[in-house]
Amino acid sequence: MELSHRSTQFSTIMQGAKKDLRDLLNIPENYDILFLQGGGTGQFSAVPMNLCTTTGSVADYLITGSWSAKATKEGEKYCRVNKALPSSNAYNGIPDQSTWNLSPDAKYVYFCANETIHGVEFNFIPETGDVPIVTDMSSNILTKPVDVSKYGIIFAGAQKNIGIAGATVVIIRDDLVGHAVPFCPSILDYKLNLQNNSVYNTPSTFSIYIMDLVFKWIKKQGGAEAMGEKSQVKSKLIYDVIDSSSGFYYSSVFPKDRSRVNIPFRIGGSEGSEYLEKKFLDEAHKRGMVSLKGHRSVGGIRASLFNAITVDEVEHLSNFMKEFKDKHK
Ligand code: PMP
Repeated sequence: MELSHRSTQFSTIMQGAKKDLRDLLNIPENYDILFLQGGGTGQFSAVPMNLCTTTGSVADYLITGSWSAKATKEGEKYCRVNKALPSSNAYNGIPDQSTWNLSPDAKYVYFCANETIHGVEFNFIPETGDVPIVTDMSSNILTKPVDVSKYGIIFAGAQKNIGIAGATVVIIRDDLVGHAVPFCPSILDYKLNLQNNSVYNTPSTFSIYIMDLVFKWIKKQGGAEAMGEKSQVKSKLIYDVIDSSSGFYYSSVFPKDRSRVNIPFRIGGSEGSEYLEKKFLDEAHKRGMVSLKGHRSVGGIRASLFNAITVDEVEHLSNFMKEFKDKHK
């Protein structure tokens, strides 16, 4: 924990972690990897400050939940934001691409690959022609294979699927580096961080060390493909219970856009939903299942099936859900 960030020991850890990530996601040679700080939130500002280089630059944002909405709000400080989805869009799915209003001259198209709070996940890569795609994979990175070559920038905080809080991964196509606006803080400038091998300032060394251990663990599990298969199995266990509960449990996300990683759902039932949801959480807690409370902005229940959650644990939850329904339906 006290290794100097400039020591050869730490440098070896960092280079190892970058190599493992490159292997795991098949990251092409013309993409750079940065380990930064500031979380996904820091990237909400870094992206426009590094890509919206000329006055009046336009960026397209696809808002499908709270996290892309937050990114959009931040983007509005630094560029002309075009909200490309129909205004009628609620946070329960992704409107068909034929209804989107993309700008031909956009500097980038932004979306959140997995909306952690609303449970909406992109299971396709949008068609954007030559406009680079920027995506926030904070909650689904390495939960499935990804064709990195289709993206301009992928970023993710480490804390959900690949480690602990502190480190932020940025995977960036090299032609997008080196265009930061003059007022971009050095700490968010991709070029400066790249030139300094992610040690422009002191990085979160321990988080990077943990990330490297997780990458090695994922490799041992069978890589991104294996994580993807497990993720399908885990999410199916929960969605099957929801869908066969005759409305006792319900999810407001269109089935085609349902997240494999974060599953928000509500309880209907004759005894009143708030009472039952509280009871559900209390009983789950007694059986060793914690962190099932929905995000405070939406309420209800949320099953977060990140990489560290095993199939057995999800079976435990799905069995509990069935039992609870049978008792209270
Ligand atoms: N994007 C997504 C999809 C998230 O889930 C989160 C955090 N839950 C963030 C961004 C913000 O990340 P951070 O707290 O690391 O800034």
